[in-house]
Amino acid sequence: MKYFSLNKTAPAVDFREATIRGQAPDKGLYFPERIPKLDSSLVENMAGYAKEELAYLIMQPYLGDTIDKKSLYQIVSETIHFPFPVVQVSQQIASLELFHGPTLAFKDVGARFMSRCLGYFSQQQQGKITVLVATSGDTGGAVANGFLGVAGVEVVILYPSGKVSPVQELQLTTCGQNIKALEVSGSFDDCQAMVKDAFMDADLARKLTLTSANSINVARWLPQQLYYFFAYQQWENKQHPPVISVPSGNFGNICAGLLAQVSGLPVQHFIAACNVNDAVPEYLRTGQYHTKTAVPTLSNAMDVGSPSNFVRVLELFHNEYAAVAEKISGYTVSDDITQRTIADVYHQYGYILDPHGAVAWYALAQYLSHHKEEKGIFLETAHPVKFPETVEAMIGKKIPIPESVRPLFDRKKESIVMQPSFAALKEWLLNT
Ligand SMILES: *Cc1c(COP(=O)(O)O)cnc(C)c1O
Repeated sequence: MKYFSLNKTAPAVDFREATIRGQAPDKGLYFPERIPKLDSSLVENMAGYAKEELAYLIMQPYLGDTIDKKSLYQIVSETIHFPFPVVQVSQQIASLELFHGPTLAFKDVGARFMSRCLGYFSQQQQGKITVLVATSGDTGGAVANGFLGVAGVEVVILYPSGKVSPVQELQLTTCGQNIKALEVSGSFDDCQAMVKDAFMDADLARKLTLTSANSINVARWLPQQLYYFFAYQQWENKQHPPVISVPSGNFGNICAGLLAQVSGLPVQHFIAACNVNDAVPEYLRTGQYHTKTAVPTLSNAMDVGSPSNFVRVLELFHNEYAAVAEKISGYTVSDDITQRTIADVYHQYGYILDPHGAVAWYALAQYLSHHKEEKGIFLETAHPVKFPETVEAMIGKKIPIPESVRPLFDRKKESIVMQPSFAALKEWLLNT
């Protein structure tokens, strides 16, 4: 399998090179040159497959011979080594809980897969690989956890001081070993700009093999298909597939679901659920695409004005507006409605949503109120304990802290405080 750049002026590469590079030299996103089609017998008998086996069969065509069979089976098995339950909440709506991984967010899946692939590739490579990543919260923890102890890979995470939640900060500053956290006295945009400059810098390129771990990397994007298949395995009425609502920011997650559908996974319809940062819902309504400046909201992992994976969504539908608009409906959900949804769903069904899941719930409920014969699943992308202030105010009580995060509170935060300047980052990278 080869990957071409969506900017069309860089050479096609295999999975290994696409993973190490992250982005193509012409700044385009990599995209598979063909989309593997599933055997119809696999689709019909999906419930009978072990999830490791299914995951291996889905991922293998995307990797070709870049990772041997036994190693790949091991990598996918470790990637998905936690539950992905579909929990029925109301008569029409079920939750696909993606927060049972080590950092309590769906980003664990992509980060675990990418880290293991990069660990495998670094064995064939001279010198270490440095992963550089800016985070507004969830990415940093998932990447830190996924890469912890991976030989041959150093991870440098930039996060805005005071702007991530306590659990998120502990997740990215208490790992030690090959994980370094840079606490930048600035905003998330500053962190992102510093990382961008680093990728363009000739001195750094001579001295280090730098790669990024955000969702444009194919090794983070592609494995996100897997849990859409796990959801269908658990879906009872196979003749009548679910409507799936995805809380969307950079659109990597929903794009992976659409990819699964193009390969043959039965899905009735997709819903792109956004907060007020709604460039894509606006495109779906009007046919006009305008990127915006991101506005802060309660569902802050989706505060993205210019969703980087949207070009991949377009590519899946051969850039035809009518084809995109037929498969996806978009919704814009305000903070007010997000808060009210958390309160309503808790009081009516006893289910605690996080702000991102609440956006997806509301969009799905709207759609289903006009499609009464359908049933749906929304993706609950993070555990509510990661957003305690918002959620506890709405449900009127403390969220029980999951067993797995308790030990975090006994660990010591270790970060390197840095000014929001590329010069500071460069000097640090060249001298450590
Ligand atoms: C990253 C994130 C999202 C958005 O996912 P995209 O793939 O960027 O669309 C949604 N919810 C949570 C909790 C996240 O961390």
